[in-house]
Amino acid sequence: MIVSSMRSMRNGKKQDLTPILFLVFVVCIIMLPRLVEAGAQSTTITILYNNVPGRTDCITDWGFACLVKGKEKTVLFDTGQNGSILLHNMKCMNVDPGSIDVIVLSHIHSDHAGGLAEFLKHRNNVVVYVPAFFPLHFKRAAKTEGATVEEVSNARQLCNDVSTTGEMGFGIREQALIVETSKGMAIITGCAHPGIVNIVKTAQEQHNDNVYMVIGGFHLSSMSSGEIEHIISRLRELGVRKVAPSHCTGAQALDLFRDTWGKNFIEGGVGAIIELPY
Ligand SMILES: [Zn+2]
Ligand SMILES: [Zn+2]
Repeated sequence: MIVSSMRSMRNGKKQDLTPILFLVFVVCIIMLPRLVEAGAQSTTITILYNNVPGRTDCITDWGFACLVKGKEKTVLFDTGQNGSILLHNMKCMNVDPGSIDVIVLSHIHSDHAGGLAEFLKHRNNVVVYVPAFFPLHFKRAAKTEGATVEEVSNARQLCNDVSTTGEMGFGIREQALIVETSKGMAIITGCAHPGIVNIVKTAQEQHNDNVYMVIGGFHLSSMSSGEIEHIISRLRELGVRKVAPSHCTGAQALDLFRDTWGKNFIEGGVGAIIELPY
């Protein structure tokens, strides 16, 4: 069709371009969604600190920290307990501390908040979101290092597609991070002291969205297999599609989660890079 049209043009005949324009239109309609998807920035969760081993060039140590990259702001969630180890693992994962805009601390335990002071010596132009429950001396120390400290009580948005559940629980108050994706929420927990099922239910009530993945410490190491099975069935009822448990989840629970979720169990040891839908 195109060849004959060109031949006609060369022959100087009056040309009807409608078939060519129609062809171009059809190709655009087919290709446009693929081009939009390819252009969309992918979101990754990089596990920077974990007692669950992973990459051998990273240091394995008790605690949790991860990096959320690809949204409006780059977020460090928790800092592990030792800032030097955190910075070492960042270096081996090619994460520039200067690229971090926001730090969210899940709760006051040192295996999550202990690395902050050392990190702020290398990068202090950040906003640190802490549960309002945090002691005054901790908040003062972060401000003295030059960080902006924001106290969190209720659920709030931190930037496009990233929000906190707000403080949960009655003993140790804890916040979880919610990253919204095209396939539902990714919920990141520190130690899950308020209970992993409660955290997932709270996030669902706040966002009225599916749960694509739950990542982090689930705090099940002291539970019996029966109790863990019950929690697994509750999470299945809540529609959790994928899980990447680690840190304080416990070896027995990790095995049971792995058996239950199969290919939707994502390894979350230190150095893991978890890809999320855009
Ligand atoms: Zn804890
Ligand atoms: Zn912990």
